[in-house]
Amino acid sequence: MQAFGTTIFAEMSALAISTNSVNLGQGFPDTDGPPELLAAAARAIYDGHNQYPPGPGIPALRHAIATHQQRHYALDYSPDTEVLVTAGATEAIAASILALAGPGDDVVLFEPYYDSYAACIALAGARRRTVTLERDGDGWGFDPDALRQAVTRRTKAILVNTPHNPTGKVFSPRELAVIAQVAGEHDLTVISDEVYEHLTFDGRLHQPIATLPGMRERTVTISSAGKTFSVTGWKIGWVCAPPPLLAAVRTVKQFLTYVNGAPFQPAVAQALSAGAAYYGGIATQLQRQRDLLCDGLASLGYDVVSPQATYFATVDVHADAVEFCRELPRRAGVVAIPSSVFYDSSAGDSFVRFAFCKRPNVIDEALRRLKEAHP
Ligand code: PMP
Ligand code: GLN
Repeated sequence: MQAFGTTIFAEMSALAISTNSVNLGQGFPDTDGPPELLAAAARAIYDGHNQYPPGPGIPALRHAIATHQQRHYALDYSPDTEVLVTAGATEAIAASILALAGPGDDVVLFEPYYDSYAACIALAGARRRTVTLERDGDGWGFDPDALRQAVTRRTKAILVNTPHNPTGKVFSPRELAVIAQVAGEHDLTVISDEVYEHLTFDGRLHQPIATLPGMRERTVTISSAGKTFSVTGWKIGWVCAPPPLLAAVRTVKQFLTYVNGAPFQPAVAQALSAGAAYYGGIATQLQRQRDLLCDGLASLGYDVVSPQATYFATVDVHADAVEFCRELPRRAGVVAIPSSVFYDSSAGDSFVRFAFCKRPNVIDEALRRLKEAHP
C-alpha cells in the first residue's frame, strides 16, 4: 500500500485549514441533516442503543433499506438474506471487492474513479483495468468498445458508480444497457456504487443497474446515508444483493469492522421512510448551489462542465491540475481537488473538481476570492 500515501481528501482538507482557505475540496456538506434525524440518533444513545448491533445490521434498518429499494426502484430484496448494513459505502465497496476478486483477477472500472476503488483492488491483490470517461458535449461518455476491450478472461467484476464522482455524470439507460450486456456475456458481477442516488438535477432520475433485465442476480448495489441525509460522518452504508453474493460480502465485512454505528442505525431506519418532499428538497437545494458555483466559475472565464448530479463540478484548467490545486490556496484562498489523481491515464491531467455542497454564502465567498485572484 506504500504507493497510496495519504488520500487527496485528507491532504487538501489539511491544506484548507493551514491556509485558512474556503474548502471546496472534500465532499461534505457544511450544514447538518434534518433535525428529526439528529434527534433520533441522540434519543437512541439515551435509549441504550450503545452496544454491538447484530452483524448484518438491526432488523429495522434492513427492513427500511428493502422498503426504500422497493418504493423508489421497484426492486425486491429480502431484509434477512439480501440486505447488509456496513460502515459507510466505503466498507461496502471494500468488502465487495475483497469478496469477489483476488490475486490473478481483474476488476474493470471507469476513470476517473473514486480513490478507494483503486486502493481496495490493490488490497485484494487484483489488477484494475480502466475505461476512460471522455468529455462529450455538455457531459461525459465512454466508448462501448473500450469497455469490451477492458474485459479479459481474468475479469471478475465491473465497478460502476452512478451518479458519478467526480464528474457528476448520471449513466444513461443506454450506457447501463451496454454495461449489462458486457456483464452478461462474460458472466461478471457488477458492483454498483449509488451513494448519490438522490442528488440528481434537472428532473433526471437515477436508475440502479440492478433494474435492468437479468441484472438483479449479478449486481451488488451499494449506497449510504451520508449524502442523502447530509451526515457523512455517521458512516451508515448498505449492500443489496442476491443471497450468494450478499453472503460473500458479509463474510468479509465481519472481519473489517464487524459492526458500527449502533445509535445511528435506528435513526437512519426512520429517515429512509422520508417522503418525496424530503428527497426532492435536498436535490433542489443542491441544484441551486450547483448553479451558483457553475455560473460563477463560468462568468470568471473558467471552462466548466456542469454536473447532472452529485456534489461536484469539473473545471478544465488547461494546465496541470495538481499544480493548480497546490497553488490555489495561496493564490486565492480556495481549495479544490485535482481530478487527475482519479485517473490511471493522462486523460484527466487538467481537470479540477470543485464541491458545491456548501452554504451559498461560502460558495459566494469562494467566487469572490477567485475573482480577486484571477490573473
Ligand atoms: N462512493 C463514492 C462515489 C463517494 O463519493 C463516497 C464518499 N463520499 C463514498 C463512496 C463513501 O461513502 P461513505 O461515506 O458512506 O463511506
Ligand atoms: N467522498 C468524498 C469526496 O469525494 C470524500 C470522502 C473521503 O474523504 N474519503 O470528496
